[in-house]
Amino acid sequence: MEKIMAINSGSSSLKFKLFAMPAEEELAAGQIERIGIDGSRVTIKNQAGEKYTEETPVPDHKAAVGLLMKLLRQLSIVTDPEEITGIGHRVVAGGEAYKQSVIVGDDDVAQIKALAEYAPLHNPANGAGIQAFRELLPHAVSVAVFDTSFHQTLPPENYIYSVPYEWYEKWGVRRYGAHGTSHRYVTQRAAEILEKPYEQLKLISCHLGNGSSICAVQNGQSFDTSMGFTPLAGLTMGTRSGDVDPSLVGFVMDKLGITTGNEMVTLLNHEAGLKGISGISSDMRDILAQAAAGNDRAQLALDIFVRNIVRYIGQYVAEMGGVDAIIFTAGIGENSAPIRKLVLDRLAYMGIKLDSAANEHPNGDCVISTPDSAVTALRVKTNEELMIARDVQRLAHEAQ
Ligand code: ADP
Repeated sequence: MEKIMAINSGSSSLKFKLFAMPAEEELAAGQIERIGIDGSRVTIKNQAGEKYTEETPVPDHKAAVGLLMKLLRQLSIVTDPEEITGIGHRVVAGGEAYKQSVIVGDDDVAQIKALAEYAPLHNPANGAGIQAFRELLPHAVSVAVFDTSFHQTLPPENYIYSVPYEWYEKWGVRRYGAHGTSHRYVTQRAAEILEKPYEQLKLISCHLGNGSSICAVQNGQSFDTSMGFTPLAGLTMGTRSGDVDPSLVGFVMDKLGITTGNEMVTLLNHEAGLKGISGISSDMRDILAQAAAGNDRAQLALDIFVRNIVRYIGQYVAEMGGVDAIIFTAGIGENSAPIRKLVLDRLAYMGIKLDSAANEHPNGDCVISTPDSAVTALRVKTNEELMIARDVQRLAHEAQ
C-alpha cells in the first residue's frame, strides 16, 4: 500500500486529501486556511470522520506543510512521513507546455511560475505548494496535474480565436479551458458505469459549481470546452460573466472610468454571473429559493444559467454529430435535481427522457434517464483529488 497526497494550494489556503493506493481509500482530508493572514486555522478529518481543528499562526506555505505533517503524525494518520510516497499538486495553468501530468523537476517549478502570466492568482500559489513539499518531503515524488492539460487535444479550430494569428504565435492567446481533471474523471467514470469503451463514446460533461464549464469528449479526448483563454469564458457562473461581447469591455470601462484591463476583468470575475444578474447571491441555493419566492431577477438569473447550458450542449452535439451521454457534476450538477431537470427537459427533442425518481433521489454515481432514453444522462460526483492521486501513482510506477 502506498500513501499518496493530493494538494490544492491557493494563495492563502492549502487543501489536501490523503489516499491509500491502489485501494483508493481516503485516509484523511482537510485544509489550512488564512495562510499568512491573522487567524490561520487547520482542519483535518480522519477516516472515521472525526474532525480536528486548531487555530495557530501559519506564516507561509512551508509552515503550512510542516504543520500538516506534524499533525498527521500526532493524529496517527501516518506514523512516518516516509510512508507518503507521492504528492500530486493541482496546477491551474499548464499552457501549451504541459499536455499531461508530469513528475516535477527543477525546470518545472520555474516553468510553472513562468506560466503565472496565464493564471496570476493561482500558479504562484501552486508553485509555492510544490516547493514547500519538495523541501520538506524530499523523498516523495512530486507530480503536477494541470487543469488545462486535458484540453490540449482540442483541434485548432476549437482553440484558435478569430483574432490576428500573431497573437497566438507571440503571446499564446488561445483557448486553454479548465476543470480538465474533473472532466477527465467524470467522463471516465461515466464510461465505467455505461460499461462501454471510453475511446468509443461521445460525451458531454457539465461541471456546474461556483465555476462552471462544459466539455465535449470524443474518442476519450477533450474535443471542445466552454472556458477559454481563462476560466472567465463560457457559462454563466456564480460571480463570473461567462461569454460576453468584448466590445462591452471598453464601453463599460469608459462609463466607470476604469483605466486598466485588469480592473475590468476583476469586475467580470467577481461582480457578474448569478450575483450580478440577480443582485442577490452567487449561490445557486439562494437563487433557486428566491426564484421560487417570486423574485424576478433571481428567476432571470436562473433562466440565463439554464439557457447557457442548453446552448452549449446543443453546440457540442452539433460539433460531435451526436452524443451518447450527458454528465452532471460539481456542487450544482451533483446536488440540484431541479437544475438537471430544467436542462434535460429542454433536450427532450433529442429523445432524452428523464427518470424523475432517479433524478430526485440519485444513488451515488448513477444514470438518471430512462432505459429507452435516446441519450443517457448521468449524475457523477467529481473527485479531482482521486484523479490526481491516480496520476501520481501511474507516473511514479512508470518512472521506476
Ligand atoms: P466550487 O466551484 O467552489 O468547487 P462547488 O462545486 O462546491 O463549487 O459548487 C458550489 C455551488 O453548488 C454553489 O452555487 C451552491 O449553491 C451549489 N449547490 C450546492 N448544493 C446545492 C443544492 N442542493 N442545490 C442547488 N445548488 C447547490
